[in-house]
Amino acid sequence: MKIPNSELVGRIIREKLKEVGVVRSQQELGRIVEGELKDIDSSFHISPERARRIALEVQDIDVTVETKKSASDKPNNCPVCNYDLEGLYAENLEGEKTRVGFRCNNCGYRGDVDEFMPMRYEFKIRKD
Ligand SMILES: [Zn+2]
Repeated sequence: MKIPNSELVGRIIREKLKEVGVVRSQQELGRIVEGELKDIDSSFHISPERARRIALEVQDIDVTVETKKSASDKPNNCPVCNYDLEGLYAENLEGEKTRVGFRCNNCGYRGDVDEFMPMRYEFKIRKD
């Protein structure tokens, strides 16, 4: 089993997204990337998680995250890329600020106070 380097994987992800436009899950991204890698060398292997992490680092790719409800503790760090999260606040009727969610300035992840667990990812090529 061989581990492909990030640069090669990033290039494949960019090329495939240009071709297909949008990929609607991390599993699908992993499958597509592994398929391409195996055309190059059949011993290449990549996990969907690693493909997703590399996609986050490619400049012209947008990654969006759908979140779901969870009873676990609120994250302090981004559950997608591990960056520090910034709190989002809103004023209630009494004029008090309450935390309504959080946002990651690194990867675009957003969660709210009830729904913050990453559930589904979408990968798109950014069009300028
Ligand atoms: Zn993030």
